Order: sequence, then C-alpha cells, then structure tokens
Amino acid sequence: MSIKDLFQTADWKKEKHVPVIESPELTAKGVLTQVKVSVGKEIPHPNTTEHYIEWIEVYFLAQDAKSPVCLGRCEFSSHGAWAQGPNTSGVYTEPQFSLNFKTDKAGVISAVSYCNIHGLWENSKELKVTE
Ligand code: FE
Repeated sequence: MSIKDLFQTADWKKEKHVPVIESPELTAKGVLTQVKVSVGKEIPHPNTTEHYIEWIEVYFLAQDAKSPVCLGRCEFSSHGAWAQGPNTSGVYTEPQFSLNFKTDKAGVISAVSYCNIHGLWENSKELKVTE
C-alpha cells in the first residue's frame, strides 16, 4: 500500500468531496493569479460536529519540476461544537478559501481536501502562462 492509493477522485459535479478549483486557464508572468478552492459547490457536503471538511491544501507543479510547491493550506475549525455539546453553537466554517500566487512557468494546480469521515480527495487543473 502506498499513500497515493488513499487519494480518491471523481467528477466534482457528482461527488461532493472533490475539491473544486476555480482559476483562469491562462495567466501571464508577474501577474497575480487567484485560485479559489471549495468543497460542495454542486452537492453540499455536511458541515456538522460529527462530519465535516477539516482542511484543504493547494499545490502547484511547474512544468519540468520534479516536485510540487505547496501554495497554501486552510483549516476549517468551527463545526458547531460549543459548551452545550455538538451542533449547539450555530457557527460553522464553510470549506472554501482563495489564494493568489505568481508563476513564471505553466503547470498544474492540485487541491487536496480531507473529510474527517471519508478521507482524502483530490483534483487538478492546468494553468498556462503567456510571456
Ligand atoms: Fe464526508
């Protein structure tokens, strides 16, 4: 068994766990590129004290690079728990965030999400760069 066997993927329009990457197809050198990542865009994922998306990480693999760089990570820390017990606070962090980055090289943006019950899910999207 390898850890890579634990990463699940599917069409995000049919499988609620798959991180959705919203970013331009094309950017330019020196220009800030915004990447928005979310889980549950088409089919909402539960967000309760018992079942929630714990974090999302975003990576960029530049063409010709052997390993990716981690662009950012977001932890979603509020899932309704409070002094009176599970699901009593009424406060829930939604599993979505955005970041901005610059790159001189084209490559692939990858996102990994982690559900506390259903594990690791991934998705990827190409980014082209003009001179
Ligand atoms: Fe789940």
